[in-house]
Amino acid sequence: MAAMKKSEYRLSTKLVRGGLNRSPNRETSEALFMSSGYVYDSAEQAAAAFRDETDNFVYSRYGNPTVEMFESRLALLEGAEACKATGTGMAAVFAVMACQLQVGDRVVASRALFGACHGILTKTLPKWGIETVLIDGRDLDAWRAALKKPAKLVFFETPSNPLLELVDIAAVSKLAHEAGASVIVDNVFATALKQRPLEIGADIVIYSTTKHIDGQGRLMGGAVLGRRDFIDDVFLPFYRQTGAAMSAFNAWVMLKSLETFSLRYDAQSNSAARIAQWLTTHPAVDSVFYPGLETHPQYDLACQQMSGFGTVLAFRLHAGKTGAFRVLDSLSLIDISNNLGDSKSLACHPYTTTHSSLSEEALAELGVTNADLRLSVGLEAVEDLIADLETALAVLA
Ligand SMILES: *Cc1c(COP(=O)(O)O)cnc(C)c1O
Repeated sequence: MAAMKKSEYRLSTKLVRGGLNRSPNRETSEALFMSSGYVYDSAEQAAAAFRDETDNFVYSRYGNPTVEMFESRLALLEGAEACKATGTGMAAVFAVMACQLQVGDRVVASRALFGACHGILTKTLPKWGIETVLIDGRDLDAWRAALKKPAKLVFFETPSNPLLELVDIAAVSKLAHEAGASVIVDNVFATALKQRPLEIGADIVIYSTTKHIDGQGRLMGGAVLGRRDFIDDVFLPFYRQTGAAMSAFNAWVMLKSLETFSLRYDAQSNSAARIAQWLTTHPAVDSVFYPGLETHPQYDLACQQMSGFGTVLAFRLHAGKTGAFRVLDSLSLIDISNNLGDSKSLACHPYTTTHSSLSEEALAELGVTNADLRLSVGLEAVEDLIADLETALAVLA
């Protein structure tokens, strides 16, 4: 039998082996190359490397062997031609937009966004003469209307933070392409394990690898994935000059995290689904937001474009902000924290934390209320998590 191509390996094999590039020492585990620079055999080789005619590493702001292993593993997982890793998720979001926008361009985005992404679109880009239009990403007619005029970029997050709204990736990509726009999907919540934007029309996928990919609450990181020509010709020149690079140490930790990625993500998702279901039966809870619930208004779309529903859920209490704060303060196992995708379960009040930079009108448009809590489900025993929530919710009885 012919040897399998790396792209044909099954998921768990790719996660453990993808991108592995051993040094002459033949180490089993991926090596950590803590080096800012690289040496050349000759002046001529150095000159050729600077002309991009060799595959020498030049400087770790451009590329590093450990970071490159991480990028290759992520690209294999995503089914993307190319990947560059960044220092944070926001560095990925900013660089992927800034590298292709100029004054006079138009960006259309779903308004259900991570707070800092919202800030880039509503504050930073308009300052530079770029028009940004935020719409209800669930509504295809709103996309159609906004994309009647040509646009350069379309950007959205699905499922979104904090209320797990979905955007129809295939349908919006089609509309975007008709308007001349490329489509960037922030795939942090579903991850490449459960949602494949590039296979259904998107052009670029970005991550905060701080979340499920590190998955243990240690490091910041991000990634941009897409076609080879986009990464090499458009993204790389900007990335090299502006210093968005990921550190070798962070890439090394995250390479090792990828080995257990799907085990962790599946276990956390199973617990999230159980907790979401349990919360729907609780008298203190008004509503539960989780794409895997049949009561989610976009459940059919979730089944169509996702193969799993994720580790994050939100719920709304009858008891308003006071009730939400009392519940958070009564948790003893689950921590109050605004991070997500950690092996530790974390809960927060988005209105006053992750989304507090949004105006009241913007929050109202998003449908985020003072009575909402977001829960990122970790790897603890699900029975212990439910018991903790049960005790905390009992203070509202
Ligand atoms: C966290 C997050 C980001 C930003 O990533 P950082 O690593 O915090 O810079 C962007 N988008 C989504 C959906 C996120 O959850």
